[in-house]
Amino acid sequence: QQRVPAPHAGLKVILLGDANVGKTSLLHRVKEGNFSEAGTQPTIGCSFCTHSVVLGDTSVSLAIWDTAGQEKYRSFTRQYYRGASAAALVYDITNHETFEGARRWLKDLRSELEDVVVVLVGSKCDLWESRQVDKAVASQLADTEGAEHIECSAKEGTNVDELFETISRSLVARG
Ligand code: GDP
Ligand code: MG
Repeated sequence: QQRVPAPHAGLKVILLGDANVGKTSLLHRVKEGNFSEAGTQPTIGCSFCTHSVVLGDTSVSLAIWDTAGQEKYRSFTRQYYRGASAAALVYDITNHETFEGARRWLKDLRSELEDVVVVLVGSKCDLWESRQVDKAVASQLADTEGAEHIECSAKEGTNVDELFETISRSLVARG
């Protein structure tokens, strides 16, 4: 009997951003297709989830890494960044502090990885009535950083597939 090699886990994509911006909820939405109002536990036991994105006639395999709460200590380990092809840099559009946090995580990311696809993600866009971060300001930051910008909602499912499609398209374009 022939042995089938384990499928390649996929390109490493890391979720970055302050605590409570909705990183785990985004992963939950894309994997399970739903949202839990009670919140989500940080990933326990498994450090990443695999996810395939179909782009036309190609399929891109992603290994999406979630944090185990280390963002509370304002530092990710080298291990977390190591080998990442892309990062989803998440802030909460209703909390300006988390946008400042995103700037800081971006700096850290760039000091750890030279060539990484970055998508700046404004989360919780269902709460637009409590918006604190102007969309144009965030887009401007993304532009100057050579990153894409997208606003999404894990709660309503808005733009969550689009987020991972955007990451995949950028990865394919980069080759
Ligand atoms: P993490 O710490 O970045 O992983 O954030 P979580 O995914 O644990 O979410 C933190 C809190 O924000 C939880 O109470 C979630 O229910 C809430 N939350 C996450 N995403 C959304 C969203 O898209 N809309 C709303 N209204 N709340 C959200
Ligand atoms: Mg989490």
